[in-house]
Formats: sequence, structure tokens, C-alpha cells
Amino acid sequence: MAVAENLQLVKALITNACSECERDPQTVQLVAVSKVHPKDHVRTALVAGHRRFGENRVQEALEKWPGLKAEFPDTCLHLIGSLQTNKVKEAVGLFDVIETLDREKLARRIQKECQEQNRDVGCYIQINTGEESQKGGCLPSKADEFISYCRHDLGLKILGLMCIPPIDEEPSLHFAFLRELARRHDLAGLSMGMSGDFETAVRFGATSVRVGTAIFGARP
Ligand SMILES: *Cc1c(COP(=O)(O)O)cnc(C)c1O
Repeated sequence: MAVAENLQLVKALITNACSECERDPQTVQLVAVSKVHPKDHVRTALVAGHRRFGENRVQEALEKWPGLKAEFPDTCLHLIGSLQTNKVKEAVGLFDVIETLDREKLARRIQKECQEQNRDVGCYIQINTGEESQKGGCLPSKADEFISYCRHDLGLKILGLMCIPPIDEEPSLHFAFLRELARRHDLAGLSMGMSGDFETAVRFGATSVRVGTAIFGARP
């Protein structure tokens, strides 16, 4: 698997999409989604200089990452999969960013663990823009209240909003919706776009794209 070459290609595509819409490529983070992929593929990306990764399961990340983080201490690790409250302690200990904050109980647990572990974890609030029952994320109708609760009542470090559009819908509608919601709340961060649609997401203002397959190949 040509991980280093794929990384270069994805970065070039991000830069192209940025120039089309007159954005500075520095304003778009690339989160390399390494879930399921073995440690040596991840290390290849680290050796190539990449330092921002995403995992979707706490348990898998605990098996893979403590060693890699010790080797490459400036790595920034994002949790992009749903988080159960009984895993918050471990998640706050390992991850630098949690992208799947979507309910009050979880928000309170994250705040408590950040205090107890003296950790400064940034969060994205996940919005279930397609209102899909099988997906995590705060419903759009509850978003205003929940965003305000996280920021103002709990004082969590909210970096922005995240969404995963429904597989069978035009993603740009969801990207535009998320951008507008973030704008109304004066939130700078927009985590949206995956291998199939990250260039579109950049055109719609994504500040962070989560790309797995285009970097590490198909997941087994
Ligand atoms: C797996 C995953 C990705 C990456 O998907 P690819 O299509 O492989 O790029 C992005 N975001 C989330 C939330 C994921 O679970």
C-alpha cells in the first residue's frame, strides 16, 4: 500500500479544491482515518510526516496508539466514532479531539474527566443532519440548545460541528446545512468530507476532512 504517495495525492487534491474557491490550504486539516488498518501502515504515514489521525473505536485505539504516540509525541488523535459514557475516561486519556459529542450526559462526563485528568480535549458536536435513526449525532431541532449547553453551561472547548451525510443523499446539502448552523453559532470548525466527497466538503467550507480509504486503501 503506497500510503505516503496517497497522502501526497490527497493533500494535492485538497490544495486544488482550495484554489478553486480561493481558500488557503492551511485552513483545512487532514485527519487520516486509520481505523482497522495495522500499526505498520500507520507508522508509514507518521514517518512520512503526517501527524493527525482518526480512529472510530476506543478499544482499538488503545491497542494501537499509546506506543505510536510515545514514538511521535506531537501526534494529534481524533475520535470519530460514537462514544459510550463508560469509555469516556479512557477516551479523554488518549484522544486529543473528540468529534462525536452528541448528548448531554456524554458532555457532562467529558467535562468531568477533562477536569479530573487535567486534559484539554477539543470537541466537535456531531449533528445528525440526515435525521437517521441508526446514526449518532444531535438532531438539528435540538442543536441550538445542545451547542449552547456544551459551550456556556459546561464550558467545554467546542471546536466546531461534525456531520456524516446519509450514504444515498447529495452530501453538499448536508455540508451547506452544517456550515450555516456553525455560522449562526459563530463556530469556526467544520469537520465534514470523507474519501468520496472531501473535495466537495472543502468547497463548502470544511476546515477538517476525515479521509481513510483514499490514504490507506480499502478496509478489510
Ligand atoms: C471511516 C470514517 C471515515 C473515513 O471514511 P473513508 O470513506 O474511508 O474515507 C470518516 N469519518 C467517519 C466518521 C468514519 O467512520
